[in-house]
Amino acid sequence: MAYWNEWRPYVSQAARRRRAAVEMAKLKKKGHPVAPVILQGRTIASTFWGKAWCDNLEGYSDYDNRLPRGRTYVRNGSVVDLQIARGEVSARVSGSDLYKVKVDIVPVPKPRWKSICRDCAGGIDSLVELLQGRFSKGVMERICRQRSGLFPAPEEIRFSCSCPDWASMCKHVAAVLYGIGSRLDDKPELLFRLRKVDEKDLLAGAATGLPISGKKPAAGKVLDTTDLSGIFGLDLAGETESESTKPGKAASRRDVRKPRTKKARGKGKRGARKE
Ligand SMILES: [Zn+2]
Repeated sequence: MAYWNEWRPYVSQAARRRRAAVEMAKLKKKGHPVAPVILQGRTIASTFWGKAWCDNLEGYSDYDNRLPRGRTYVRNGSVVDLQIARGEVSARVSGSDLYKVKVDIVPVPKPRWKSICRDCAGGIDSLVELLQGRFSKGVMERICRQRSGLFPAPEEIRFSCSCPDWASMCKHVAAVLYGIGSRLDDKPELLFRLRKVDEKDLLAGAATGLPISGKKPAAGKVLDTTDLSGIFGLDLAGETESESTKPGKAASRRDVRKPRTKKARGKGKRGARKE
């Protein structure tokens, strides 16, 4: 019913919000978990993982014209529910109506994941350091590298929305994409679920090869994983076996170069978003 869209009577933001709240309450009653994206101020993401997710989106010119409206939407609390699962995100966004958004993310191809783990070998000592983004610039660059790092390129992202104009990324989809960045601030481990890889493969000792940092894990810094499961709500069982425990080839110098991103070419470094 796209032709109705422009004739719809204006509905105030407060009224939309009330309607969304009623719908969300109904969903909760039915047992559906509801997790809205709520920002503190205007900053969408402030940790390494959240910011890197947003920077990645903004690093591709494919989305240039479509992302700004999403920023406004996520800031004003329109993403009333966001659920991140393995390979997919489902969300509800309050607009002229309450819309359902679905985002599918392609898993990281195995050879790429092996390459990332090999190149980062020895650079991340513990799960806490990994999830807090406490590692060297070299490791960050490898993880964030466009099209060969951990974050999805546009061709690896499929989306749909129940609104009339979703075909070329509507503001609801854009808001959800930013909402994912915000959620990664609190739950960075969800990025690994989303991309269907095991974050423990990245830890020191999980892979062999020439590390980017050359750093060896300090015994005292490796925390007891039984504590971590409590801190992050993770299932840490069965971490000993992974593909990358097999010996890999040494990382070549060429792999450690700076990614050629839009940012690297022109824009300066971006801090926390405050537009
Ligand atoms: Zn939409």
